[in-house]
Amino acid sequence: MFDIAKIRADFPLLNETVNEQPLVYLDSAATSQKPQAVIDALARFYSHENANVHRGRHTLSENATRNYEHTRTLLADYFSVKSNEIVWTKGATESINLIANGLASQLNPGDKIALSAIEHHANIVPWQQLAQRTGAQVIILPIESDLSINSEHCSEFITQQKPKIVAITHASNTLGNITDLAPIISACKAINAISVVDGAQAAMHLRPHLPEISCDFYVFSAHKMLGPTGLGGLYGRYELLNSLDVYQTGGEMIETVSLTQSTFRDAPGKFEAGTPNIAGVIAFAEAINYLTSLDFQQMRQHEHTVFAYAINQLAAIDGIQIYSNQECNIGNISFNYKDEHPFDLATLLDGFGVAVRSGHHCTQPIMSHLGIPGTVRASFALYNNKDDVDTFINALKNSIELLD
Ligand code: PMP
Repeated sequence: MFDIAKIRADFPLLNETVNEQPLVYLDSAATSQKPQAVIDALARFYSHENANVHRGRHTLSENATRNYEHTRTLLADYFSVKSNEIVWTKGATESINLIANGLASQLNPGDKIALSAIEHHANIVPWQQLAQRTGAQVIILPIESDLSINSEHCSEFITQQKPKIVAITHASNTLGNITDLAPIISACKAINAISVVDGAQAAMHLRPHLPEISCDFYVFSAHKMLGPTGLGGLYGRYELLNSLDVYQTGGEMIETVSLTQSTFRDAPGKFEAGTPNIAGVIAFAEAINYLTSLDFQQMRQHEHTVFAYAINQLAAIDGIQIYSNQECNIGNISFNYKDEHPFDLATLLDGFGVAVRSGHHCTQPIMSHLGIPGTVRASFALYNNKDDVDTFINALKNSIELLD
């Protein structure tokens, strides 16, 4: 059984009050809450274990190095890949920048980079910059009128257009919709296109088995997976990863340095210049252990039950328009009430202790497509329950009364 009461007790922030109301946290797509074990690990590191990694022979440094590398192994196991295929960064944004910059010398003028129309800005802007630098061209995969990605249509497009790189999200942060990646990745393989999957939203909810997805790169943010902020990383298929140009240079990533030239380590070391987020990586081990201690099917079933309960009640409210796919969804619901501005609704909900996000969610192309300034987004995670939904729906009805 998925013991939701026990799980909620592990997340201290869920006991907070906001505006003198018990907090209902529906903003996990922006950042997830952290279990006590992660918080304790951060404090333990700074209180008892703090030392730099990779460059000391003393006990504290060797322990820190071992624990830092241990998390890499845990995460590699989580994704079913090898630990030398995992690079630490400060988040999905830096991971995509690292990949885009690293591919620069493999691109020629006229090469195409294909993106979907529902990407987060973090999976658009670095590719636009890369295109400007190299003379490549960004092209947009076909999108259906309801903003869903039809993988067959995308595959046909990839086969015809022959892009060199395809960058696509595993799940949309704004809509929550899950992409059916298999046909898209097969189409990429058939034309030797490099596939980059933005897993920032999906990595926690879907526990992706990367050999099955079979993409070349998969990026993630630890803070959306119960881990600390300022940390994330990427998986890269080793040969391709190792062939990327280095992104940042300096200490740690080198093999030898003279005053005229330097040589670099192999991946992943050559992509980790400078002192990393040691405390964050070490504490992230507790987040991964927490996730893997839960039965995946039970967790997904619970998440889906709460999501379906929320979406059914939302859909029953007159004047509410829902933009998200109602079945194949990680747990993010984007909606609006009539033509009220999403900020107004989110502010009213906050007064009832309900934390939702409002705005364009770093997906301005989605908002242009819909012809709206933004949406209200309620996003759910494994620690939400039906009581959260009841409070949210009541608060929403009360807010609507105030707006009307
Ligand atoms: N991609 C998606 C789909 C996201 O939701 C986010 C975070 N909102 C990012 C990329 C960027 O992640 P970060 O801000 O942690 O670098």
